Amino acid sequence: MIASNGPYYDLTERWKALRGYRDVRVREVACVNARRTLLCAEAGDSALPTVALAAAVHGDEPAGALALLELVAADGLDPRYGYRIWPCLNPSGYDAGTRASIDGIDVNRTFDRGGRSPEAKAVLTANRDRGFLLSLDLHEDADARGFYCYEYGGGVLGRAAIAALDARALAVDPLEATFDTAGPIRDEHCRRERGRIVPDLTAEAALIGGWSYSIAMARRAARYALTFETPTRRPLEERVAMHRHTVAAAIAALSQASNRPRV
Ligand SMILES: [Zn+2]
Repeated sequence: MIASNGPYYDLTERWKALRGYRDVRVREVACVNARRTLLCAEAGDSALPTVALAAAVHGDEPAGALALLELVAADGLDPRYGYRIWPCLNPSGYDAGTRASIDGIDVNRTFDRGGRSPEAKAVLTANRDRGFLLSLDLHEDADARGFYCYEYGGGVLGRAAIAALDARALAVDPLEATFDTAGPIRDEHCRRERGRIVPDLTAEAALIGGWSYSIAMARRAARYALTFETPTRRPLEERVAMHRHTVAAAIAALSQASNRPRV
């Protein structure tokens, strides 16, 4: 089912090559009722507050998966935190280059009710009883002109991510009134500014007909939860850099986050 020489196989081999290096533990989590597994990596000290990082729940959005690999390989994760990393939440879609899984399911609508896809069930089972300080889910958007993020519950981390891109002259989407967000979120259900959307969780879940990974994390498991989107129309290397810089910036801003009011 997963091609032995395809993009997902290549990704897993690159993660496994990091084993025992940079204090990274890599395992494969079984997907019940499906002949596939999910990669799960742990990095850093597990006794520290944990940051959850995830990518490629939509299989045709590879930049986040490549950025997470690069961040860990380059020792780019802040040592003040432990990490649980899902390098690719949709292996069959990643292999085929499709948004949906091989079952034809948009996995990112199935994180409610204990998980309504094999992938979501595997993640929610593995995360059971775990609490996270921060959750970041990395996506891409074919319509976007620059990076933007969803910051569930508000906060200061999204603006820190945007500042990191501004400092490097990387594109941030202005999110003008005509902008069509990647998720079907209506304007009355969110606040939006340049590069940043603060959605209404309940309204978003109702509109998309299920919980995304970030909605599940924001509601159940993580103090701060954000979804990052990079513009597919930009070169892959640039999108990978955007994800790398914004992930690092959001984590770096955690130490100030709890002292400031959420906006
Ligand atoms: Zn996506």
